Amino acid sequence: MHDRRSLTEHRIERVLNERLKPAVHRRVGALAVQAWHVEGGQGEPVPPSAAFAASYQPFAVGDPWGPAWGTTWFHITGDAPAADTAGPLEIVFDLGWADHSPGFQAEGLVYRPDGTVIKGLNPRNVWIPVEPGKPIDLYVEAAANPLILEIDPFRPTKLGEKTTAGDAPLYRLARAEVCVRDTQVWELVADIEVLDGLMRSLPEQDGWRMELQLGLDRALDVVDLQDVPGSAAAAREVLAPLLARTANQGAHKISAVGHAHIDSAWLWPVRETVRKVARTVSNVTNLLDSDDSLVFAMSSAQQYEWIERERPEVFARLVEHVKGGRFVPTGGMWVESDTNMVGGEAMARQFVMGQGYFREKFGITCSQVWLPDSFGYSAGLPQIVKQAGLTHFLTQKISWNQKNVFPHHTFWWEGIDGTRVFTHFPPVDTYNSDLSSRELAHAASNFRDKGATSYSLAPFGWGDGGGGPTREMLQRAARTKDLEGSAQVSVESPSAFFTKAEADYPDAPVWAGELYLELHRGTYTSQAKTKAGNRRTEHLLREAELWAATAAVRGLADYPAEDLKRLWKVVLLQQFHDILPGSSIAWVHREAADNYAAVEAELEALIADRLAVLAGDGDQPISFNATPFDGAVPALSGAVPQRAGAPVRVDETGDAIVLDNGVVTVTIDATGVVTGLLDRATGRDVVPAGERANLLQLHQDFPNMWDAWDIDEFYRNTVRDLTELDELKVDLADNGSAAVTVRRSFGESSVVQTMVLQPGARQLDCSVDVDWHERETVLKAAVPIDVHTKEAAFETQFGHLVRPTHTNTSWDAARFEVCAHRFVHVAERDFGAAVVNSATYGHDVTRHESADGGTYSTVRLSLLRAPRFPDPETDQGPHARSYAIVVAPDVAAAVDAGYRINLPARQVTGSPVEPLVRIGGEGTAAIEAVKLAEDGSGDVIVRVYEPLGARTRVTLEPGFEHTGARQVNLLEDDAEADGMSVEDGRITLSLRPFQLVTVRLAR
Ligand SMILES: [Zn+2]
Repeated sequence: MHDRRSLTEHRIERVLNERLKPAVHRRVGALAVQAWHVEGGQGEPVPPSAAFAASYQPFAVGDPWGPAWGTTWFHITGDAPAADTAGPLEIVFDLGWADHSPGFQAEGLVYRPDGTVIKGLNPRNVWIPVEPGKPIDLYVEAAANPLILEIDPFRPTKLGEKTTAGDAPLYRLARAEVCVRDTQVWELVADIEVLDGLMRSLPEQDGWRMELQLGLDRALDVVDLQDVPGSAAAAREVLAPLLARTANQGAHKISAVGHAHIDSAWLWPVRETVRKVARTVSNVTNLLDSDDSLVFAMSSAQQYEWIERERPEVFARLVEHVKGGRFVPTGGMWVESDTNMVGGEAMARQFVMGQGYFREKFGITCSQVWLPDSFGYSAGLPQIVKQAGLTHFLTQKISWNQKNVFPHHTFWWEGIDGTRVFTHFPPVDTYNSDLSSRELAHAASNFRDKGATSYSLAPFGWGDGGGGPTREMLQRAARTKDLEGSAQVSVESPSAFFTKAEADYPDAPVWAGELYLELHRGTYTSQAKTKAGNRRTEHLLREAELWAATAAVRGLADYPAEDLKRLWKVVLLQQFHDILPGSSIAWVHREAADNYAAVEAELEALIADRLAVLAGDGDQPISFNATPFDGAVPALSGAVPQRAGAPVRVDETGDAIVLDNGVVTVTIDATGVVTGLLDRATGRDVVPAGERANLLQLHQDFPNMWDAWDIDEFYRNTVRDLTELDELKVDLADNGSAAVTVRRSFGESSVVQTMVLQPGARQLDCSVDVDWHERETVLKAAVPIDVHTKEAAFETQFGHLVRPTHTNTSWDAARFEVCAHRFVHVAERDFGAAVVNSATYGHDVTRHESADGGTYSTVRLSLLRAPRFPDPETDQGPHARSYAIVVAPDVAAAVDAGYRINLPARQVTGSPVEPLVRIGGEGTAAIEAVKLAEDGSGDVIVRVYEPLGARTRVTLEPGFEHTGARQVNLLEDDAEADGMSVEDGRITLSLRPFQLVTVRLAR
């Protein structure tokens, strides 16, 4: 037979696009449209009641509307014709969408005049149901969200901030009419799309492919192009036998989960997300009402709370469907957060707050973590997940790796402490599948665990502003449930999938350690103020809870549970995976800065109040220490008398400045960089001979795409060391410390570097105050350390992970920029150093040949970037950063210094305060949180972990009367004793490396 593949395929495309799809909706009536543009151009949204009362002007199809971020209300009136046998009546209302980027353009929400909601309007969801023979009277709240990620993407744009976005209308109303949706034509389109997509996915010489080709050709022969509605049913009859062919034995099995990935802020502000969620949920409940095959999963308790508060009517419909089991809360988190940078306790609280909400509102404890889009997954996460009551983990983001292909789609993921979580990466490689035959075929062929198991999950539905799953996607699912040559699709919940997948593959392979994303490495650094706000508020929350709990237990003040919960929610929202990573528009980061400032002010006031109450009336200078350690003694967090030390000696006689406190000797040369940091106890110098530490370096930083997200490896090819200076001076302070201040200018920017040596300190404290006006440039601070090692330790949640610093394999080489929390530590067996920080996450560590043989290691902090998309002014202006170079023979010293730089002691006058709880015994354990129980019982919750990667045995010593200690999980439910034992009232913790334990002390 002659090969007519190409001819048939082109024929199908043209007939589908030019004749069949346009024939689905046939005009049967006109509408009158009026519009009211919310006052003030980009005016903020108004409640429906205010919009209904506004005065509307006539508006015609073709008229422009919508300056960026503006809202226009359309009032639609008319008379619906009588019922039509061809299909249901629907209004087609096209706000003027482009045929690409569904979810990133304008959107609408349709109301009845009584304020009740019908459904959303989105680029692939343009219809409104109409009752035959009834008057039409509807309102559409249309949001003129601008397309920021253009078809030619990553161009700097001013659209991301309402003050710079301009007033030009972005859209023209494209269509507004009453139509009949012709059922036979609509079904024929689905038949052809599914079979055509399947045909194209099969091998060229496959017999079934050829049968499909001939069948589709015959079906098109039957279609009368001058009378599509009249011939559609006959064409469907030709295709029916093909659609009736059942799936091959062993076909790949796809659990299709209805979904809409809605970023809680990104290329739009938080206030728009609230409306996006309402629109999408309205669509979803509408579709759940009309099609009982749909199952829809939605994550992020925050998004539920938004519509509960802002759109109660939509929420009521959601609740009904949750009860019916087809609207499935999933993920168990407050938001789909970043997991690289979020601190240990905050990571726990994402789950405590999320699971708490789902339990309270629906009686549901989620068992699947749902993080399809966060930018890598920390090695500390599995333990947190398990202890928050979840058993399964889902993402697909690692498929975005630049270099290395992840070897599994289904596997056990093992964290730093050894906890394993059953994990799945959907091989469909998207969280916005449309269930097209092409995507189903990709999932089946891409699945890397085939042979061993045949189950995968596909989240389907348009995300962000796309409106979620469509009825067309459900048509495809129905046709591929059991179809020869196709994967078999079942629409079902995430837990239905995970139950089957785990039972089928209990001995899945194990991946140990972080799920590092080989992309978006700039997100550890972009939007520096957001990073600083996160770190600061995480630690203020720790302090506030600790001192408030102490004061409450001692009967000195109430525990402000509701205030703390409210403040936590603000901080948890900012940890969303486009806010904390710095990948949102300017508007979002401006609001984040405002939010952090408000949270900081409120927490500082709360802390000051509780410290005053605790310190009482005495006149002794005392120091409140909220770190887990008090010098060498593992303790927690009481207030002790302030200490003093011998003043630092300064020698300025040679070319260099020498600072000496008897513990270390610091040498700073005439260019203001550190050339020596000699540790007296060991005789070792941290700085390799001839190298320069605390050296600021600039690199050009213009990635190939994803500007705020990515830093590309070639940034290293050029470097400028900042060694020219405007001023260098030394000051001695009253407390005996010495400070060297260096002023430098470069480009349009300037920096003041300060290096302080404190009496008795085994570290050099460094700070930089930068007035930053560079563009597409990264600023790094380099600390060469004279240790020969092939790895470094980086703090993550409740412990640290060790990463190679060599580039032996492509996996090692890909980690040229990595995330650390408070410290990075490099060491030989008996000597080492740490670089600790108070607001930095991005780091790199490299190895270099030493002049005297062997190698040394250079730790660099990524202090600032200046990408221009999506925020063209990213990080312009003043920034303060502090860090320290610490002599740290072991990781314990790094852990301690990391806490201290983030939790500086607070000096007040009063009387010493006994800690509320203390760690006793020889071992080391860190108390991460002390708080009162979430249930309001007044019980004290203490969270402890082993920070060194060692076995430890310690006692937990409460400084108050309690009536019993129980081990609980993160949700504060009783847990099986694992590490905790109580004998004669003595609480002993025997912990595995990095084990996390939560203890509830009843009162
Ligand atoms: Zn996302």
